[in-house]
Formats: sequence, structure tokens, C-alpha cells
Amino acid sequence: MWEDSKEMLKSFDLNMLEKTYPNICPICGVEEKHVFFYRFDDEDNDGGVWMWCSKCHSYTHAHVVIPSNWKNPDFISEEVLDDSVDYLETNKDKIDEWVNKLKL
Ligand SMILES: [Zn+2]
Repeated sequence: MWEDSKEMLKSFDLNMLEKTYPNICPICGVEEKHVFFYRFDDEDNDGGVWMWCSKCHSYTHAHVVIPSNWKNPDFISEEVLDDSVDYLETNKDKIDEWVNKLKL
């Protein structure tokens, strides 16, 4: 069961990719917070953000301006994304690796 969390949303900022994931969860304090972005259009930075914690199962999903250096990975399918935190959780190791690589 995932719980929609405003606290998680408040931890959003455009410098998120400079951090290393998993990162500290603002709700439970455990280093299990993950982040994923999805770019809707190659022409601009219009996209979605998902943040979730594997430990306390807090999550948030919002329509945002995403970091300009974000690239969509080909192992995540847009059709399955939506509100499916389970899908992201299943792929969290690959996602963390992807996010940490973009930081460089
Ligand atoms: Zn947590």
C-alpha cells in the first residue's frame, strides 16, 4: 500500500539529480528514497516526477518542470508509468543507477 505524501512532494527541487540515490526519506529518515522523472516532450522540460520510499511507502507524483539534463531510460515504458509506484519500485535498482549516472 502506497501513501500519497505532501511531505515527499516538498522535498522536490531541481537540484535533485545532484544527490545520490537512494537518498534520505523526509518522512521516515531511512536512506530509501528514490526519484524518477519522465520527459513528455523532447522540445522542452515538461514532465513528471515520482518520488517514493521503499521503507515507509510514502510517495508523490506530480507534473513538473524537470531538470534539463534528464533523459528517459529505455527500460521504463510510458504506458505502464502513470501512478504505478509498484512498477517503479520493481525497477528501483536500475532507476537509482540511471539517476546516479546522470549526476556525473
Ligand atoms: Zn520513508
